Amino acid sequence: MLKSHTCGELRSQDAEETVSIAGWVHRRRDHGNLIFIDLRDRWGIVQVVINPEITPDAHKTAEAIRNEWVIQIEGKVVLRQPGTENPRIETGEIEIQAASVSILNPSNTPPFYINDEKSEEVDELLRLQYRYLDMRRPSMTQNLELRHKVIKFMRDYLDAEGFLEVETPILLKSTPEGARDYIVPSRLSPGSVYALPQSPQQLKQLLMVGGIEKYFQIARCFRDEDARSDRQPEFTQLDLEMSFVTENDVLDLTEKLFTNLIKKVTPDKKIIEPFPRLTFKEAMLRFGSDKPDLRFGMEIQELSSIAKQSNVGILKSAVEDGGVVRGINAVGCADYSRRQIDELVELARSQGAQGLVAINLIGDDDKVSLSGIRSSIARALTEEDLEAIAGHFDAKNGDLILIVAGAESVVAPALGVIRQEMGLKMKLAPEDLLALGFITEMPLFDWNEEENRWDSVHHPFTAPIESDISKVSTNPGEIMSRSYDMVCNGYEIASGSIRIHQKELQLEIFQALGYTKDEIENQFGHLLNAFEFGAPPHGGIAPGVDRFVMLLANEETIREVIPFPKTQAGVDPLTGAPTPAEPNQLTELGLEIANNPPK
Ligand code: ASP
Repeated sequence: MLKSHTCGELRSQDAEETVSIAGWVHRRRDHGNLIFIDLRDRWGIVQVVINPEITPDAHKTAEAIRNEWVIQIEGKVVLRQPGTENPRIETGEIEIQAASVSILNPSNTPPFYINDEKSEEVDELLRLQYRYLDMRRPSMTQNLELRHKVIKFMRDYLDAEGFLEVETPILLKSTPEGARDYIVPSRLSPGSVYALPQSPQQLKQLLMVGGIEKYFQIARCFRDEDARSDRQPEFTQLDLEMSFVTENDVLDLTEKLFTNLIKKVTPDKKIIEPFPRLTFKEAMLRFGSDKPDLRFGMEIQELSSIAKQSNVGILKSAVEDGGVVRGINAVGCADYSRRQIDELVELARSQGAQGLVAINLIGDDDKVSLSGIRSSIARALTEEDLEAIAGHFDAKNGDLILIVAGAESVVAPALGVIRQEMGLKMKLAPEDLLALGFITEMPLFDWNEEENRWDSVHHPFTAPIESDISKVSTNPGEIMSRSYDMVCNGYEIASGSIRIHQKELQLEIFQALGYTKDEIENQFGHLLNAFEFGAPPHGGIAPGVDRFVMLLANEETIREVIPFPKTQAGVDPLTGAPTPAEPNQLTELGLEIANNPPK
């Protein structure tokens, strides 16, 4: 080893020790005679001092040294002079008096500062192009360390719970998760392709048929989706599967794993214990979202029966037409201006709502009354209507009531985004809270207008709830599934389900999804066969590692916690991938590029 110690570990009790350290020059200061070097490695920074009177050769070498050069120092640990300690670094009580300085490798001037966290402001493309420099910055190093700790905790925890870590292939057959496959042409079978796994879904189910009972894997998944800010073409999941379980077994295990993980790895974060568990219906009703931000309340309230009795035409008729009227109370926001309300109306419209009714309770008495409101429905409202609505929310003067009326499928998401936006504006979410929770019993199918067929909401291997199985052929849209998501601060961070393990039911679901007999045989024959050899009941879940680490690290994008991410266009700025195929590669594969390849 070229180093006896790391740059972060030396303390006052090491004084007088002779050490050898090596790393990168973080900063160099030339004080005429003395040269100071802050030397950095993964573990921290230590100050080195080079005195021309004592070590003239070392001093001469040090004069040439610049930032980011790689050097090795041999020397003695000494206590700093009283008053010159640096409390901002952990080694701040000591410094190294260099006996020798060796240059291991010089460096070009980096394209951005590494010793200055302002490089956050550096263009991200440049950071990704020079990721190997970017990750020398302490904040990036910390993110990678955090990621390591999270994954290590998951491994150790599941190992102790009796899970086996099993690797599954990357070159595989398509396994649908609702995205496009990345395909790899086969040289040995010209014209045939492998698909990179969108997830190890079918393989983990086959592992259950294989009697493994408790499986996990830190699995890479590949999905060729259109660019979205928080998606990567390849991402990492903690994939797990268990046999002989029901929903609560999987959720209990996941809850314990994440509770313990957060307490150990990021003890400064708070969580809600136990994790709230809501059905999909309840989540839509109370929060207007299937991934509600549970960090704050401001829940949506049902106003339909009040609206029906009221004198306000647009509210009354919405209910009479079979719709609903719901709202939220933004406490203390009565002073919202016309313009601010107009922005909220636009937001509600973006979800398909016709509009949004605001009632600003601007009066200054104890009691809410028509003389103290600002609202587009002020003329139609009676004193009784106002009392009933405000009373329902327990709203006071100073508050802002926001109401949406219409079809339930529109009202819920419209109020969902309004609630989220107001929660942000009102700063209702505590910064250190990770509000994890589970959403259960999602619908099994979703109607796909464009294709004129049913799609799986989760994936086609998800079991319907027992009492809904009979609806597969009659009423697919009403079937609820044995699926669940884990959410955190408004993000979906895991999804999973209890699976179908009987061949007949799986066949029925494939048929309901519009697969032909041949397609079923070609794509899923192996799974259906396996189900004929004693497949146990089983289920699992797959938390996304990138997004969870992003939340733990207080980062805004998953790219900050992925060592070598791609841009939104799917390009790796470091290596330039993807690059055009070499003609001989194409020839070997029996492929030709079309004259006008699609954009
Ligand atoms: N394979 C699923 C997914 O990637 C997770 C699961 O059902 O376990 O979303």
